[in-house]
Parts: sequence; C-alpha cells; structure tokens
Amino acid sequence: MAHKINHFLLLICFLPALAGCFNTTVDTRPIKNPDDQRAEKPSVAVIHEETAALRANEINTSHWIHLNRPARIPILMYHSISKGNNSLHVPEQDFQAEMKWIKDHGYVTLTPAEAYLVLTRDIKPGKKCVLITLDDGYRDSYRTAYPIFRKYGLHATIFMIGKKIGAHNHLTISEMMEMTKHGISIQSHTINHQDLTLLSPGRQKAEMALSKALFDQMFTQETLSLSYPFGRYDSETLKLARETGYKMAVTTKPGAASRIQGMFALHRIRISPGISLTRFGTLLDRANQ
Ligand SMILES: [Zn+2]
Repeated sequence: MAHKINHFLLLICFLPALAGCFNTTVDTRPIKNPDDQRAEKPSVAVIHEETAALRANEINTSHWIHLNRPARIPILMYHSISKGNNSLHVPEQDFQAEMKWIKDHGYVTLTPAEAYLVLTRDIKPGKKCVLITLDDGYRDSYRTAYPIFRKYGLHATIFMIGKKIGAHNHLTISEMMEMTKHGISIQSHTINHQDLTLLSPGRQKAEMALSKALFDQMFTQETLSLSYPFGRYDSETLKLARETGYKMAVTTKPGAASRIQGMFALHRIRISPGISLTRFGTLLDRANQ
C-alpha cells in the first residue's frame, strides 16, 4: 500500500510538469457554482471489498433482466451534502431520507461499470436501478454521505477534481481509498475543473487524459466515466472523451439516461434541496420505465 501511495504522490507532484506537455495551465481560482450551466458501517447489504468487481468484464450478468428497448436509468446528481444557500447543497437529513427511500424500495445501486453494461446492452440487474453520483469531491462526500451509503449498503460514484485532492474541504487520498474498498467509485471530473469548451483541443485532451491516468493509477482501475465541469461540452469534447479512453460521460442535462443521448452525453437528474420524497420517488420510478 505504501508503495502504491508513493506512486500516487509522485504522479501528483509531476502533474504540473505533465500538464505542461499538453500546454495546460492550472487554474487556482476558487470554484463557484460547480456544474450548473445556469449559475452554477454496513447494515443490510454488506458491500465487500470489490474494486475488481467495478470492472465491466468481471461482472456476472447471467441473471440480469433483458429488455427489448434501449435501457433507461436515473443518474442522480448531487454535489455537497450539507446546509447551504444554493441548489448545490442537499442537507444531510434530506439525503439520508432519500438514500433510505432507495433502500426501502428495492433499488439496485449501480457501479459505473454496471451502468455501462445496462446502457449499452439493454440488460438490468433488477427492474429498478439507479446510479448515484456526487460531483466535485467535497469532504462531506466522506464525512456525511459515505456513512449513509454504508448504513444502507449502497453503491455510489464520486466525480473527483484532480487538483482538489487533499485541498481544503475536499477529499484526501486516504478517504478515497477507504471508500473505494466499500462500494464507492472515484471517477473523473478533470484536473482543473475548467469549462472544456473554452479550451483548445490539446488542453481539453490533457484535462481528460491526465485525470484518467491519475485515477487509473491511484485506484488500480480503469476509470471509465467522466463528468464535464459545469456540464459544458461540445462536439470536440465528445470526440476527445472517446479518444482518451473513457466509456461514457455525464452532463447536467435533465432526465433519465439512455444511450440514445450518446454515451458521452448522458443526462442526469439533479436532486435539489427540499424536494419531497414523493417527488424523489416519482423521478426515480419514471426514469426506469
Ligand atoms: Zn463540478
């Protein structure tokens, strides 16, 4: 483990130099309104150490349901699980109730690799599935959301910003390492969290490639999913995301996800603070139809 962490630290130390190769600059401005284009210990189901099972080619799909149409699933979008004055903050109490609803209603919480199989092969591990995502890797993803995920035995995905690892109010390597051993997947939200459509193709590619390499090595995984900062992308972004080796990418466009949208432009359902559990349930149930 110490050997691995040394590798991670080495990679992080050299990131600025690597970024220079791709003509990337490091944006040190504070992040405001992330991902909004407009403003922007286990109980029931024990999740075992399963980093390996997050890989699509190691998933046993023999018991999955076959659909006769393109599969649709809700990909939930959260940011901070805390009290705040904008829609990016969902209070712990709301979040806890929503995760309990997911558990109580028999939903299968997917890993990114499972979601990829669902969307590309039109098969599902259960009638009701959901991919839970949190963007930006705030500290409360670990301190607040993670204990709730463990309490209900849920899988979830955190889209982490490369340069924010260990930064103020963001996740550390050790926090992420612990979570990946218990059903939480860390995927890419680029290195610098810049609007990709404002970058040259070379810099866009660097943001995607460096973050993929970072998380591939850090968690000994194939990082297959990307979340575009501020949900912003264009046709060049879609092409580069595929070329860089990702299998899918999520946006902030609202609604159920389906490959009809394109695997690199998947829609998500934004969960805003204060929505009723009835509304929450309707959103999830409809997105599975
Ligand atoms: Zn973001």
